[in-house]
Amino acid sequence: MSAETIFSKIIRREIPANILYQDELVTAFRDINPRAPTHILIVPNQLIPTVNDVEPEHEAALGRMFTVARKLAKEAGIDEKGYRLIMNCNEHGGQEVYHIHMHLVGGHALGAMLAR
Ligand code: 5GP
Repeated sequence: MSAETIFSKIIRREIPANILYQDELVTAFRDINPRAPTHILIVPNQLIPTVNDVEPEHEAALGRMFTVARKLAKEAGIDEKGYRLIMNCNEHGGQEVYHIHMHLVGGHALGAMLAR
């Protein structure tokens, strides 16, 4: 069994978070340290530590993360101008919380994808 992170407690509403969406597969909440005017984390309710741990049985939740990202981007009014979806994996990817999550960031021009 993988170690739970703070995100499992947020999903179970045991600690506070600004939850924008939740269903049987995924939960979306505002990042505590936003890096853009809109910065939302979309996570599967089931603990999957990294993208390296993704299995075919997770495909429903992973697909739902995209449809929820689309819905929340529209609600935030950033769908037309655009936004970025990011998933970090392990140390070189800059992953800090080992419960996979999609960052939905936008609200201004984000610039180049990677620092050069
Ligand atoms: P990573 O670097 O793992 O891709 O991103 C983890 C993200 O989780 C960071 O952007 C960080 O600000 C956010 N985060 C970490 N702890 C908490 C928390 O307790 N609540 C919320 N809402 N976000 C958190």
